[in-house]
Amino acid sequence: MELYNTLTRKKEKFVPIVDGQVSMYTCGPTVYNYIHVGNARPMVVFDTLRRFFIYKGYNVKYIVNFTDIDDKIINKANEENTTFKDIADRYIEAFLEDAKGLNIYEEKTIHPKATEFIEQMIQFIEALIEKGAAYNVDGNVYFNIESAKDYGKLSKKNIEDLISGARVGVSEEKNNPMDFALWKKAKEGEPSWDSPWGKGRPGWHIECSVMSRTLLGDTIDIHAGGEDLQFPHHENEIAQSETLTEKPFANYWMHNAMLNVDNQKMSKSLGNFFTVKDIAKEFDLEVLRFFLLSAHYRSPINFTREVMKQIENGLERLYNGKKNLEYLLEKTEDRKLSEEEKEILSIVEKYKNEFIESMEDDLNTADAIASLFEIVKFSNSNLNERASRELVENVYNILLELANVLGILHKKEEILEEEILELIEKRTVARKNKDFKLADEIRDALKEKGIILEDTQEGVKWKRI
Ligand SMILES: [Zn+2]
Repeated sequence: MELYNTLTRKKEKFVPIVDGQVSMYTCGPTVYNYIHVGNARPMVVFDTLRRFFIYKGYNVKYIVNFTDIDDKIINKANEENTTFKDIADRYIEAFLEDAKGLNIYEEKTIHPKATEFIEQMIQFIEALIEKGAAYNVDGNVYFNIESAKDYGKLSKKNIEDLISGARVGVSEEKNNPMDFALWKKAKEGEPSWDSPWGKGRPGWHIECSVMSRTLLGDTIDIHAGGEDLQFPHHENEIAQSETLTEKPFANYWMHNAMLNVDNQKMSKSLGNFFTVKDIAKEFDLEVLRFFLLSAHYRSPINFTREVMKQIENGLERLYNGKKNLEYLLEKTEDRKLSEEEKEILSIVEKYKNEFIESMEDDLNTADAIASLFEIVKFSNSNLNERASRELVENVYNILLELANVLGILHKKEEILEEEILELIEKRTVARKNKDFKLADEIRDALKEKGIILEDTQEGVKWKRI
């Protein structure tokens, strides 16, 4: 598998640190508001990469942090006359709700919060001070960027240019205008933690370095995020981590390109700013997920209603293909594959291999999606009621396993009340005729569709789960 590494500006063969394992860290949200459609892109893209690794048999440790202490959170808490924790909890909950709608593989995501790692951050900063790489000025601790080897190597920025550009409005406490805060002295009334430098709180960059190191080790396989995080956030993470450990912080750095709305940068002042929750009112979030994967992650993507409608139609075509196969599963005969069917299956397998090759080529989801459409088109025109169940089953499983890599086609069709009542009636008749096998089959079939039956004295009751 090849991945584009921002550090080298090249596609490189992916070689994990430990065979069969992947450690991955994606910078998560500062939880002070609802996430917007642009924030959803790295969530979906890197979740898909994680899913693909799992599909290929890797054991993946996947972290998305929550920045739960920050100026913006404190300001919002002050505006609402509440605590920073109250604000953070509220927007973490909202984030998880959006993540669920986007079918992010949450059961397998580790979500550390910055405030849970204050002690480790203090130790990390103390070690940097000992190394002469950080200094305390009256309760504010700064990282000395001159102590970092190759500062600017990720963003390819020249340190001298940066320094001369940063001269204006420089805080006089710092030795160098590009030095950045590791620990911020608490202002009156702000939430704070005790430290060797007095009461204060961590800076933003230190969080990711510390949580990544504590949970995944000194060097990890992949660190990911939006391209806007390359500088200064990721550059500073590298500087402080590599200065401390003298080892590479991450072997592969991956960045997704930005999302535009109607060909413009999304901004509140232009009135083209959409939260994921806004979109959820108009579209199923599965459509947003499919849209975000419809372009290669390193290309900008343009969000418009028209494109979302097309994506919605495309997704419906895939669902129809799935439904056709489900219909055939019930109708086809249980017999071995014929020679001709082996041929048909080999063509579907060829599309499957193309899908995998696209994904292995730096996560080219756009091409992978094209292969998925080929499978559906081909199966719609080549599979019918005369096919063997084995063929239909094989094609169905291929479609679902690939769709699952992309995190789509996971919705079960909602069964209508009318159909439920019909099936309950059929089951009651079966029981009267002592056909318990059929009765059980109906009960199980309903359960598959999320309907639970309960036999009571007043008759059969049902509920959705
Ligand atoms: Zn980060």
